[in-house]
Amino acid sequence: MGERTLVTGAAGFLGSHVCERLLQAGHEVVGVDCFTDHYARAVKERNLAQARDWESFTLVEADLADAGTRALLDGIDAVIHLAAQPGVRAGHLGAYVRRNVIATQRLLEAAALSPLRRFVYASSSSVYGDAPRSPTDERTPLAPLSAYAASKVAAERLADLYCRRDGVPAVGLRYFTIYGPRQRPDMAFHRFIARCLAGEPVELIGDGRQVRDFTYVADAVEATLAAAARGRPGAVYNVGGGHPVELRDAIALIAELAGEPVAVAHRPAVAGEARRTACDGTLARRELGFAPRTPLGEGIARQLEQMAQVTRGAPHRNQITARRPPVVQVEVTDASTTRIRGTVEATTA
Ligand code: NAD
Repeated sequence: MGERTLVTGAAGFLGSHVCERLLQAGHEVVGVDCFTDHYARAVKERNLAQARDWESFTLVEADLADAGTRALLDGIDAVIHLAAQPGVRAGHLGAYVRRNVIATQRLLEAAALSPLRRFVYASSSSVYGDAPRSPTDERTPLAPLSAYAASKVAAERLADLYCRRDGVPAVGLRYFTIYGPRQRPDMAFHRFIARCLAGEPVELIGDGRQVRDFTYVADAVEATLAAAARGRPGAVYNVGGGHPVELRDAIALIAELAGEPVAVAHRPAVAGEARRTACDGTLARRELGFAPRTPLGEGIARQLEQMAQVTRGAPHRNQITARRPPVVQVEVTDASTTRIRGTVEATTA
């Protein structure tokens, strides 16, 4: 048996994938989750289904913001802390403080008393806000635009303190928008694909020209495992897909892969979202040996496939290998630059 790893947020989107990957690599995994109501428990239970098949997996249902986290770390070699209140639109500030700051502080406090090899924790590209430089590297000043982003900055500061003061081997990962199978229901690709599969107009918040450096979930998992293996304690690394794309072009790609025409219903932009995120992944490449591998089209096709299976109980009829003529024009120019030109029918709403 390999290491014993504690994964917090194990029932979530990223956490469930990390658990499976660790189990496949021969680790013993203790997952922790309290099934917050940010989205349905049934979805999180489905996320966990494959991990639960392993004898080397244990799930502890516990809220990290409550007392008693010390016992969770008994016999643990490494922690991967992903539990959080994610998303910039959750509304209530208290949830961000409790789930992102207090929960992290309690876990760090317990980690300070435990002989851990690594304490990897999730931060977010949102800590940069509207970064003055693009692509953005880790030395860029932090300028959060939302309570979520501010709570992630606070968690980073706490991790840094516990690292310097108490020797907790904390390694932070600033993930750039993750997508793929089991993506959270509140996230853009999930909402677009769900509407597309239902034959309903896609709701686009803002003008669609927001740029995101989308990161396929398996790539985010590889970066996380690399950080747990060889991340430098005290360091924070960007983890991004490396190919920034406008949201409206991503919609065009989804429509093309789904083989469905897509109508777009525009909704007003919301405060707190950065206009553009673009990852400079040089540090992670140099120190973790991490480079993203999954092209956007391939990743979206996998998410589409998984969501079609969940919603219809069957594979999507337009699998990437047998698709109908595209409804939109999509062009991926070369391996290093993804430039997608799509046309979408607009409706007013
Ligand atoms: P998710 O909501 O799917 O998973 C988080 C899980 O944490 C949930 O299952 C929730 O029930 C659990 N949780 C929350 N508070 C808890 C607490 N106090 N105690 C125990 N469990 C608790 O979110 P995700 O998209 O998988 O995100 C994972 C991590 O990555 C988060 O820290 C998030 O902020 C960060 N992140 C995600 C993205 C992304 O694009 N998904 C981007 C940047 C950063």
